[in-house]
Amino acid sequence: MRTVLRGRRVVVDGREQPAAVVVDGPWIEAVLPVDTPVAGQPAQEVVLADDEVLLPGLVDSHVHVNEPGRTEWEGFATATRAAAAGGVTTIVDMPLNSLPPTLDPAALDVKRKAADGQCSVDVAFWGGAVPGNLGGLRALHDAGVVGFKCFMVDSGVPEFPPLLDPEPALREIAEFDGLLIAHAEDGALLTDAHGRRYADFVASRPAASEESAIARLLDAARTTGARVHVVHLSSAAALPLLAAARADGVAVTVETCPHYLALTAEEVPDGDTRFKCCPPVREAANRDALWQGLADGVIDMVVSDHSPCTPDLKRLDSGDFGQAWGGIASLQIGLPVVWSQARARGHGLADVVRWMATAPARLTGLSGSAGKGRIAAGAAADLVVFAPDATFEVGTLHHRSPLTPYTGRTLTGVVRSTWLAGRPLTGDAPRGRLLERA
Ligand code: ZN
Repeated sequence: MRTVLRGRRVVVDGREQPAAVVVDGPWIEAVLPVDTPVAGQPAQEVVLADDEVLLPGLVDSHVHVNEPGRTEWEGFATATRAAAAGGVTTIVDMPLNSLPPTLDPAALDVKRKAADGQCSVDVAFWGGAVPGNLGGLRALHDAGVVGFKCFMVDSGVPEFPPLLDPEPALREIAEFDGLLIAHAEDGALLTDAHGRRYADFVASRPAASEESAIARLLDAARTTGARVHVVHLSSAAALPLLAAARADGVAVTVETCPHYLALTAEEVPDGDTRFKCCPPVREAANRDALWQGLADGVIDMVVSDHSPCTPDLKRLDSGDFGQAWGGIASLQIGLPVVWSQARARGHGLADVVRWMATAPARLTGLSGSAGKGRIAAGAAADLVVFAPDATFEVGTLHHRSPLTPYTGRTLTGVVRSTWLAGRPLTGDAPRGRLLERA
């Protein structure tokens, strides 16, 4: 069953160009000049409208699904439906907030069984590194996780304690050329947060705490030679440190999130805990500096850190930033949130594709035999038909919980359709697959 998609704007090889994308089964067979007649009678011809651009399916390597155990926060069915609606064809599930946390092969098995049969898009899994499972990381690696997540500070849940010193884990992970991704905040520099004032909350988690933890992570990476990745960078003050380490040969990559690129501390209403996440959304000048970090290539990727909870845990009743769960829900709208900002700052869709598809696919190894994150011959036929000039107002989303700080905002860029493995996702039977590290 072959399909040809023809468009005047297709993101291929790092730029938009006219192209015909020939799809055979779940794979892209060829990318040809747009008007090339395709031999062998393709079964279906799809011609994109003039206002549409064809992108590769996005890869969101930072999603907290929370099933099993806290499925009322977010589950595989709802998360992957939201992903599909948002042009995300692969998510990588975080190892914590579900019960059990993904700390050994048996727990990974529990997670895979919970996910099986209800995913609308493809799902891969991170494992966790905590003090209690050191020495057992290789077994989890061999069981198929794409890498290991650790916290350098309290994680918010007792069953996932922090690794204050990541070096022993990195020594172990370096032996099998694995990857450690770290939540980098230094607990010694945090203060107790309480009350409705957002400025107080930001002050309780200062930029210096990120710099301190990142410096420690980079030292451990330098000592051990292991690959490390900084998740959800919020403070742009750490960018020079990261750039210098990379120039020095340290194998480090960096992500930031849509909320740090779109929201600012100045606009967060006091008591509006929908905006709470850790580390926090900081001031407008910091946001601009993060955009510069993306432009300079110090920040490699943008992924959601979708981390919802039940509405009661957001404590909108008291509006107390100290008591509210920290996490922002955005899986379904990451692409238009980032695109709305990116286009205003002179970036093109090829940049967005690099940040939200190609780089996270490479980080997780899913750019290899799984063929994720690009439109090219031999790649996965995961595609997004995107209307970059259309606008919409954020209303009800497919996420399990309705709370998100983006409600009511007008965003630019509409996902018209999402294709997984060579066929459009129509909302009937879920056909996402569970992926293992290649
Ligand atoms: Zn997270």
